[in-house]
Amino acid sequence: MNTPLTSIDSGKISINALKVVKRLQEHGYQAYLVGGCIRDLLLGKSPKDFDIATDAHPEEVRDLFRNSRIVGKRFRIVHVRFGPEIVEVTTFRGPHDEQYDENHSDSGMTLNDNVYGTFEEDVFRRDFAMNAVYYQPQTEEIIDLARGVEDITAARIKTIGEPEGRLREDPVRMLRAIRFQAKLGFELEDELADSIESLGYLIQDVSPARLFEEVLKLFMSGNGAAAFEHLMELDLYGWLFPDSRRSMESNATEALVKLALESTDRRISEGLPVTPAFIFAAILWYPFEQEKERLLKEEGATQVAASHEAANNIISKQQLFTSIPKRFKEPMRDIWFLQFRLPNRFGQKPDVLLEHKRFRAAYDFLLLRESAGEKTGELGAWWTEYREADEDRRSVMKQASGQKQRKRRNRKPRPRQNSSEGPNWQP
Ligand code: ATP
Ligand code: MG
Repeated sequence: MNTPLTSIDSGKISINALKVVKRLQEHGYQAYLVGGCIRDLLLGKSPKDFDIATDAHPEEVRDLFRNSRIVGKRFRIVHVRFGPEIVEVTTFRGPHDEQYDENHSDSGMTLNDNVYGTFEEDVFRRDFAMNAVYYQPQTEEIIDLARGVEDITAARIKTIGEPEGRLREDPVRMLRAIRFQAKLGFELEDELADSIESLGYLIQDVSPARLFEEVLKLFMSGNGAAAFEHLMELDLYGWLFPDSRRSMESNATEALVKLALESTDRRISEGLPVTPAFIFAAILWYPFEQEKERLLKEEGATQVAASHEAANNIISKQQLFTSIPKRFKEPMRDIWFLQFRLPNRFGQKPDVLLEHKRFRAAYDFLLLRESAGEKTGELGAWWTEYREADEDRRSVMKQASGQKQRKRRNRKPRPRQNSSEGPNWQP
């Protein structure tokens, strides 16, 4: 048996979070640090944010802090802002009288969770035991009614209460379990893993906006590749990205998504910028391609029209599951459409492409497609060399590829390549 983790390095606690706790207590309220921050402190990590639980109601909290506002509908919480840092203050939640009252959907999902409760009740409304450890910074006391420290010590994720009911109440807890599994390297308790496998369909009841937020947390927090692996293992990926899941049967989607997430994880660890547009472009690349092929074949559309329509169709379908904010749709389309322009390398074209604001993303995407097994005729290597080459070398390269392309054009058309080998490379 491992020795229980019991020490908290108070030096790692945000001064602002401590200020909020202190001020609430000075006004006669209870206040504790709770959740991920305590879990991470017990593990010796530096928490990325701090959550506070209190018996003060949201309006009472807001009145105590000038720099605060109430957010959320389903869960009303107060954000107290200190420059770039936001401390989240949540009022103790209570249980609902019945499982299927007006606050629940037919599948048992909680629609309105603004029922306030006592400290003890709050403990048992939390998702996992490891997330229900409370800390009183003044007295340095750890309060652990759900025996979460035991789970943190054993690297185990367990729901508070039996998993099925808790997942029905809020199916997003399935995604949260996977996120923590990926982030902390913890194991899911068997009964929880089994319940997730059989209840995945409940994800359909969650709003696309909330799912998008959750997908960002899964894929853009530095452990995206591990999260993807767990989503696949527990059969949840298809409830988030049905077209992408289906395309895995006949295309290199799984390899491409994995590579995109590995590259995102690497960039995050190096402090480089990342965008969900790149990941979504990878998730939906083959569905987009297949749709484009269909439009070319069945509707006789032109290349350009087919690309645009395929992008619209695939993105609209995906938005029934996870929303995709507008600011990410344009870059996704650019990354896709540039894939069809990268093969055209004569005249001024390569230099115009190099200046495109999305060239770098499109080039990286091309390399990933090649790593995923697509045959592009060494196109990635060509661009890698071209980017670095001097003027003279660039002219030679353009001429050589121009001649090759002209020769290929003059040949009799070959039967169309299998779509898994990539798009039609002729201009
Ligand atoms: P992170 O390290 O990602 O911040 P976290 O555990 O702090 O992880 P938050 O989303 O910040 O996660 O939530 C704070 C706390 O609120 C959780 O630790 C948990 O106790 C509780 N909580 C959050 N979401 C839910 C939920 N869907 N159901 C029950 N409890 C929840
Ligand atoms: Mg948190």
